Amino acid sequence: MANTLIKNAQIVLTMNDGRAEISDCDIHISDGVIAAVGQNLSVADAEIVNAAGCVVTPGLVNTHHHLYQTLTRAVPGGQDALLFGWLQTLYPIWSKFGPEEMFVSAQIGLAELALSGCTMTSDHLYLYPNGSRLDDTIAAAAEVGIRFHPTRGAMSIGESDGGLPPDHLVEDEAAILNDSIRVIDAFHDPSPGAMVRVGVAPCSPFSVSRELMRDAAILARDKGVMMHTHLAENDEDIAYSLSQFGCRPGQYAEDLGWTGDDVWHAHCVKLDDREIDLFARSRTGVAHCPCSNCRLGSGIAPVRAMRDAGVPVGLGVDGSASNDVGNLMSEARQTMLLQRVANGADAMSAREALEIATRGGAQVLGRDDCGQIAVGKRADIAIWDVSGVESAGSWDPAALILAGPAKVRDLFVEGRQIVADTRMVSFGLNEAIVRQNKLARKLAEI
Ligand SMILES: [Zn+2]
Repeated sequence: MANTLIKNAQIVLTMNDGRAEISDCDIHISDGVIAAVGQNLSVADAEIVNAAGCVVTPGLVNTHHHLYQTLTRAVPGGQDALLFGWLQTLYPIWSKFGPEEMFVSAQIGLAELALSGCTMTSDHLYLYPNGSRLDDTIAAAAEVGIRFHPTRGAMSIGESDGGLPPDHLVEDEAAILNDSIRVIDAFHDPSPGAMVRVGVAPCSPFSVSRELMRDAAILARDKGVMMHTHLAENDEDIAYSLSQFGCRPGQYAEDLGWTGDDVWHAHCVKLDDREIDLFARSRTGVAHCPCSNCRLGSGIAPVRAMRDAGVPVGLGVDGSASNDVGNLMSEARQTMLLQRVANGADAMSAREALEIATRGGAQVLGRDDCGQIAVGKRADIAIWDVSGVESAGSWDPAALILAGPAKVRDLFVEGRQIVADTRMVSFGLNEAIVRQNKLARKLAEI
């Protein structure tokens, strides 16, 4: 039996049902599961991790990403564009990607997340040029050691059919559904503690047909997997829905089976009161991506109203091309700041932002076995060193959100340590960075 004992944490923010905060606290991890939480624990033959001077939290959970985009950060033509123009700048570059680009960019994106305290992430891969497969990113996640919820995304409506993406980046709808079945059968693990769960994820209502949205929902429910897409991201998105479908995005989603506790939508910046009520009643989840929404000028999502109504909300860094940063702790801070801009200084506490980043994300991804530090839950744990300059002078662990540090000291996923002393220890990150930069230069030359 593999035992680890995290000793003497200054404080553990458990995010358990009572939101307990325990000072001078130890955590016993046994075979990937939290076996005990409390003071003065002792375990024979355990590996000891000294957490003195540290705040300990559940690992953060990322509910929306496009890992492949780490290869197209800060592309000049897309730096100042709105969503649709930004996409049209980047589609031709992404069409040059192949399996190596998918694998290396996923390694980089996942490592960046892990270094910001993230133990579990979803990914939304919706284009498969030149032989790329979802398998490429799943292989990368296995090397990095992060808990992974890849989704088989898709685009099927190209420019010639009135869609946004170029025709050569879209796929045949039957092929999309067949490949979705293939990756679910090959990789999806429904059991507690699963390291990989696959979802079904047409890219957005403006890049697939009504039929594919409906068929994807039927397939997902038949297979017992979750469903994900982009929804109501900005004003252009709402206008497209009204003109093409004659209804708002919430109505469109409901009509095609895209509401329920097995569904989560990215962004939802423009949900109105009726749509928030629909999501709350149906337990439909939202991946809130505040930095991406700022970067693309999309607006401020009504997270306060969503949470008050009972909508499950998690955080997403979104693709690196529309955020440039994949730091989940800074998304938690940005969530709190934006709700205060919209609703006043008491609209969201630092602790609530941390709750959304941990337990909230786990709920959105359907993982009641993760997202909190409690006996019987999976050992996904972040240890934050608060003895450094960012934390000096702080009076309360809320400083983790309000001040920093921005990098986690140690990170455990399923009880295995993948970050130690702020460095990745699960795989060769430096080699991956060299490889990624080489690929980016090659793409820039084409
Ligand atoms: Zn996105």
